[in-house]
Amino acid sequence: MLAFVSGASRGIGAACAEELAGNGFDIVINYRSSDAEASEVAAKVEALGRKAYLKRFDISDAAAAEKACAEVLSKCGPVDVLVNNAGISISGLVQDMSSDQWDALLSVNLKGMFDLCKGFVPSMVSRKKGCIINISSMWGQTGASFESVYSASKGGVDAFTKALAKELGPSGIRVNAVSPGCILTDMCACYSEQDLKALAEETALGRNGTPQDIANAVVFLASDKASFITGQILGVNGGMVI
Ligand code: NAP
Repeated sequence: MLAFVSGASRGIGAACAEELAGNGFDIVINYRSSDAEASEVAAKVEALGRKAYLKRFDISDAAAAEKACAEVLSKCGPVDVLVNNAGISISGLVQDMSSDQWDALLSVNLKGMFDLCKGFVPSMVSRKKGCIINISSMWGQTGASFESVYSASKGGVDAFTKALAKELGPSGIRVNAVSPGCILTDMCACYSEQDLKALAEETALGRNGTPQDIANAVVFLASDKASFITGQILGVNGGMVI
């Protein structure tokens, strides 16, 4: 079994890669520039007895994504599980956000996901087998002040997930999203200790999440135990959004 994880050099993607490897998957590790971190993830995957393939490319570059997907299919074999995890966040008042920032954010968080689906869906459809898991955000459901563009991108991820689940269900392909709350990764480095404490206090469980919390949900959705689950947005947010 082969899983492709975008943005797997760090944070949530790295945890997903390692947890999927622990559950029997060989892993294609996509990332944009962090060679050393990606190699560390590959070493952990191999230590678990699985194959690791490093695939460095920018998912916002449609031509690069198309080429990379074709190479993965020919060199590594068919992808059973696609985890669209790579994402960026840019915060600011809406009037301070530029069109370039809008384009940058949407081209990674939304178009990058679309291009990877385009690259792998045809082979999934012809095999009548496959599973897609998109990493969204609770802000896609609720909206976040100072993060209107990021929230829009993740609202798009949720709608795309539901639509694609309807389109691909008849081909036996499940499409779901995991919608994290505040997860302690580099993406949260902009928050102060005080901000993080306040965010933790907003959850029912009184803590922020770890990448492992998200990886556990991803592995569940990728497994046969989730065989009747499609088109769902699974909140993993400690009860911040209920
Ligand atoms: P992170 O620690 O910043 O890691 C981002 C990963 O994405 C890195 O592996 C990075 O590669 C990769 N990446 C970024 N842009 C890319 C591109 N254009 N092409 C290929 N790879 C790219 O982020 P994270 O916190 O793990 O977030 C992962 C996902 O969870 C994102 O979709 C994010 O929106 C979502 N999320 C996170 C949180 C949170 O609180 N952390 C909450 C809700 C949702 P390099 O290392 O090479 O740069």
